[in-house]
Amino acid sequence: MTSADIRKQFLDFFAQRGHQIVPSAPIVVKNDPTLLFTNAGMNQFKDFFLGNKKPDHKRVADTQKCLRVSGKHNDLEEVGVDTYHHTMFEMLGNWSFGDYFKKEAIAWSWELLTEVYRLDKDRLYVTIFEGDEKEGLPKDEEAYNEWKKVIAEDRILLGNKKDNFWEMGDTGPCGPCTEIHVDCRSDEERKSVAGKDLVNNDHPQVIEIWNNVFMQFNRLKDGSLQTLPAQHVDTGMGFERLVRVIQGKQSNYDTDVFTGTIAATEKITGKKYDYSDSKEAIAFRVLADHIRAIAFTIADGQLPANNGAGYVIRRILRRAVRYYYSYLDYKQPLLFQLLPLLAKQFEDVFPELNKQIDFVSKVVKEEEDAFLKTLDKGLKRIDDIIATSGKQIEGRAAFELFDTFGFPIDLTRLIASEKNLAVDETGFEAEMQQQKNRSRAAGTIDTEDWIVLHDNAVNEFIGYDSLETESKVTKYRKV
Ligand code: ATP
Ligand code: MG
Ligand code: MG
Ligand code: MG
Repeated sequence: MTSADIRKQFLDFFAQRGHQIVPSAPIVVKNDPTLLFTNAGMNQFKDFFLGNKKPDHKRVADTQKCLRVSGKHNDLEEVGVDTYHHTMFEMLGNWSFGDYFKKEAIAWSWELLTEVYRLDKDRLYVTIFEGDEKEGLPKDEEAYNEWKKVIAEDRILLGNKKDNFWEMGDTGPCGPCTEIHVDCRSDEERKSVAGKDLVNNDHPQVIEIWNNVFMQFNRLKDGSLQTLPAQHVDTGMGFERLVRVIQGKQSNYDTDVFTGTIAATEKITGKKYDYSDSKEAIAFRVLADHIRAIAFTIADGQLPANNGAGYVIRRILRRAVRYYYSYLDYKQPLLFQLLPLLAKQFEDVFPELNKQIDFVSKVVKEEEDAFLKTLDKGLKRIDDIIATSGKQIEGRAAFELFDTFGFPIDLTRLIASEKNLAVDETGFEAEMQQQKNRSRAAGTIDTEDWIVLHDNAVNEFIGYDSLETESKVTKYRKV
């Protein structure tokens, strides 16, 4: 089954059960002080949960472009190193806004996985919320009882607040959740761990694929929980992980979601992807991952910039450039060459990339060119710094790398960690503070309680200052 078939079957399944199929919201979030990027399918629906707006449909399903590189959900450092965390990924989701609840949600997720996708029941297990005394939250008996109808009780595991109470950010809608995990280990390996296999949460082949959240609360800024006016279902399934399980692969990168980009990278660089944990193989995976985040974010209107969401994209892009430069020995712009293929691959799902392919390519290539101009000198400088550093790179040196060579702090941290060095990030921040007119570090935005939105604060996009220079300024007009 191709990834396109798998996506379609998900949407068809929920359409047949009365769900309206809606488009993905943009990956870039505007008008929300608590969030730079969409990090879950539910973001675009938060006002329905809070009761601020009334939905046109009580049942909705979609595939949502998500990005988890800042704020509460930040997976950047796992990407390319493990086989299933991406920067940008698709989250398949179905929602009930005050309509069906735990019974239907659990029954349908089981039906879809075992009857439509025909996953081996013997490889599935589920977790439910065990409760939390401090928050005064009970164990989720209702979810437990629903699962009992379809799965053996020794496959229902209890999970704590960290794993089984889902929160979008520091504030906002939240609630207990139940998650579905798949054990992808070989039969042989499973035999050798018989009896213990259900509790192995950390094994790289035992993967969480689907989270069913039961939205019942709103987390306020003072930390307290407010009960929502109605009860809702919010589910999120990692599309790339699902495809991997159905296609029987060991890694998300071995599915048809990524193999095209990896093959194209092989062709461009003349190197061979060998599926290993080598730096070179990680570079292949990082590129296959990062190009998606970069492409879809720019296609959604966020240009790389020196602050805010734009700086997050610039950081991801520079991280990717350093990977091909250092580990694939490729010294010219590479990422933009992958874009036409990606645009074609997603033409039917996210047509916004294909429609703007020339523009996105131009932006990406110029970003690569600009960073490649200082990268070599910067890498030599960091080598010198590392050679003369003790256990850590000092804040002042990290700042010099940032200021003179355009090294984002996480790139310095990455290179330092490869040499078992830390970075004095407090010192770096202090240096940053001293520099007036410098961007605030991305991700340190102030959060407020969720409130009713006032639509008069909308910004209208009117263009970019210039595409030719390093300092691109995005222009907006208040409307
Ligand atoms: P994990 O524990 O693997 O980090 P999570 O618990 O943070 O996942 P949720 O917030 O529950 O993830 O999101 C719902 C689903 O989205 C997950 O079950 C998973 O399939 C998928 N998902 C989450 N983060 C990523 C990611 N970085 N890349 C790919 N898929 C992801
Ligand atoms: Mg996570
Ligand atoms: Mg998890
Ligand atoms: Mg989860």
